[in-house]
Amino acid sequence: MTKIRHFFHLQQTIIMTASVILQADREKSLKRHHPWVFSKAVKQVKGTPNAGDTVDVLAADGSWLGRGAYSPDSQIRVRIWTFDQAEMIDAAFFQRRLAQAWQLRQQLFDLNHTNGIRVVAAESDGLPGVTIDLYADVLVCQFLSAGAERQRKLLVAALIQQFPGYSIYERSDVDVRKKEGLQPVTGWLHLPRDSGEVTILENGMRILVDVINGHKTGFYLDQRDSRAAASRYAKGKTVLNCFSYTGTFAVAALKGGAAHVTNADLSELALETARKNAEANQLDLSQLDFNKADVFKLLRSFKDQGRQFDMVILDPPKFAENKSQLMAACRGYKDINRVAMQIVKPGGLLLTF
Ligand code: SAH
Repeated sequence: MTKIRHFFHLQQTIIMTASVILQADREKSLKRHHPWVFSKAVKQVKGTPNAGDTVDVLAADGSWLGRGAYSPDSQIRVRIWTFDQAEMIDAAFFQRRLAQAWQLRQQLFDLNHTNGIRVVAAESDGLPGVTIDLYADVLVCQFLSAGAERQRKLLVAALIQQFPGYSIYERSDVDVRKKEGLQPVTGWLHLPRDSGEVTILENGMRILVDVINGHKTGFYLDQRDSRAAASRYAKGKTVLNCFSYTGTFAVAALKGGAAHVTNADLSELALETARKNAEANQLDLSQLDFNKADVFKLLRSFKDQGRQFDMVILDPPKFAENKSQLMAACRGYKDINRVAMQIVKPGGLLLTF
């Protein structure tokens, strides 16, 4: 009898989830469903969870708060998957979360008109560390936390089930992975293709995206509304599109009736793609310039020449990678904005991001 009981006891400890117990009074943010547990809030770890393992998070008084992914190398020690004690972190969990996220996107977008969208925005969709972007029939994912990395198989399986026939490419080549003790990873995860090029629709514009070589997951989806604004304001205007990348602000402006757009970027490849994007939208190339130039210098030379535009768009890359570059970045932003204001015609518009 004692032997049997001892056996059961062992079994239980083996399958028991490890738990993270918080310092006194550190449970407030979790009770408000903020999904992060910082390392300083942790009093004790019971069990020996590995990176990405699922753990229960308990308040100092032992009450259950949430269930999440443990990340021993990160200051964000746990990212919560669920605040529902009955919910297990299994295949069905990821299917449910993904289905929910996709259902919301289908309400927000007319996919016949806009089919380049973020399907999963990490914590906002209850999937910390997971980004999934849709580009027509290609999905691009980033697994940015230990938990996301650990669950990649279930996540990819859920994607294949939700989007049968779509290709899946991984772009986990992001610096933040280092903070989670992870190396960069890229490559096809499902239905590989010869090239990463895919044409998406955004508000009816045709846009070339390269999911393998493009910035981020291939494209700046977060600027969709800004491009739409550029289109609305552009009618009859001469436009300078600084840091033009693949020239999608230019396409938007010309579709909105701009008289002429000058694209400016340092990258030859970006400007080449900008030309292809103009062609894909059957725009009149005589209304477009492609200027391979350093925007800092170009703005100054336009100012010196007295050349002005009805609308100037400034959508620079990030000038600061970390705190130590903050002041230099501020000077950079101030510089381009100040000179840009000087080359906007009186009554014209500066679109700055
Ligand atoms: N506005 C773009 C996104 C900008 S990405 C869009 O809507 O898609 C930043 C771009 O700035 C990149 O294409 C990069 O090549 C370019 N760039 C970075 N520094 C530059 C500089 N000093 N002068 C000109 N282009 C620069």
